[in-house]
Amino acid sequence: MNKITLGKTGLVIEKNGLGCLPIQRISEQDAVYLLHKAYDGGINFYDTARAYSDSEQKVGAAFSGMRDKVVLATKTAAQTSSEMWKDLETSLRTLKTDYIDIYQFHNPSFCPRPGGEDGLYDAALEAKKQGKIRHISLSNHRLLVAHEAIDSGLYATLQFPFSYLAGAQELELVQKCRETGMGFIAMKGMAGGLIRDGLTASAWMQTQEGVVPIWGVQRECELDQFLQCIREGAELTDERRARIEQDRKELRGGFCRGCGYCMPCPAGIEINQCARISLMVRRAPAAEWLTEEWQQKMHQIENCLHCGQCMSKCPYGLNTPELLQANYEDYWKVLAESKKSK
Ligand code: SF4
Ligand code: SF4
Repeated sequence: MNKITLGKTGLVIEKNGLGCLPIQRISEQDAVYLLHKAYDGGINFYDTARAYSDSEQKVGAAFSGMRDKVVLATKTAAQTSSEMWKDLETSLRTLKTDYIDIYQFHNPSFCPRPGGEDGLYDAALEAKKQGKIRHISLSNHRLLVAHEAIDSGLYATLQFPFSYLAGAQELELVQKCRETGMGFIAMKGMAGGLIRDGLTASAWMQTQEGVVPIWGVQRECELDQFLQCIREGAELTDERRARIEQDRKELRGGFCRGCGYCMPCPAGIEINQCARISLMVRRAPAAEWLTEEWQQKMHQIENCLHCGQCMSKCPYGLNTPELLQANYEDYWKVLAESKKSK
């Protein structure tokens, strides 16, 4: 086991945490099984969000009888203080607890501050005073907001996308968090499904001082990879380094992370999958992406209005319509190749 103190919170946790977004897609019984197996394997930090449908409820069902053994983080996407109080009470009820260790503002487009018109930070401070939350934190996909949060000194932890495909800008954020003693929670450690090998991803994360990845798992076999790392340690072998270099060559730069912040699209295009589908079909088993259903979704790209809304919202500055077009062209090529090879 590899214990780490999460920034200035004083919370000591296993360096590998669990992201509880994917458990929305499985039954409560399966989710509880997975969460208990994670706990038995050494994971004691769980990150969820009010916005992840029934994820909090499943986490609550798993850990209500052993609350003091786990560290729980959740998020609110509230825009006002009254919405935040409502979210907080719901989170406490669904998580079956009377306190939340790390309470995060969920990807706000600005950095909430004391005295702000939105009242969010003041409400969080009051909740902390009342003992309902232990630490005030923030998750984000925007570099500017992330920098502001670190510089403000107001937040215990920052949650941001981070994997071995990260560029200089993300590495700078991590460094700043280290320097200021702020915890760094890494979401999307598998780059939204583009990185296929959990052992390599985890071995690389071990080398990132101060970073706590929250691995999103839905299947037991995915969880097993991370539990193996906890049990046996994950070494960054030459073979794993070579795989990382190969992935970086193939994926670095302008790829869609699948975050979905550019949506909804007025033409009904499922941008967060369609703008990276060519990577998915070329890196993962292709069959599940070549179904009739996905072909229909790809046809939607023909209806793009070129309104530019997606581009203006993409935190990675991607030219989304261009990316969609490139994926569209490659997708039909892959489909034709797969039909030929049958
Ligand atoms: S430019 Fe196209 S893909 Fe982007 S939001 Fe507009 S219609 Fe949707
Ligand atoms: S285009 Fe940008 S905002 Fe949209 S899903 Fe991809 S990375 Fe996210």
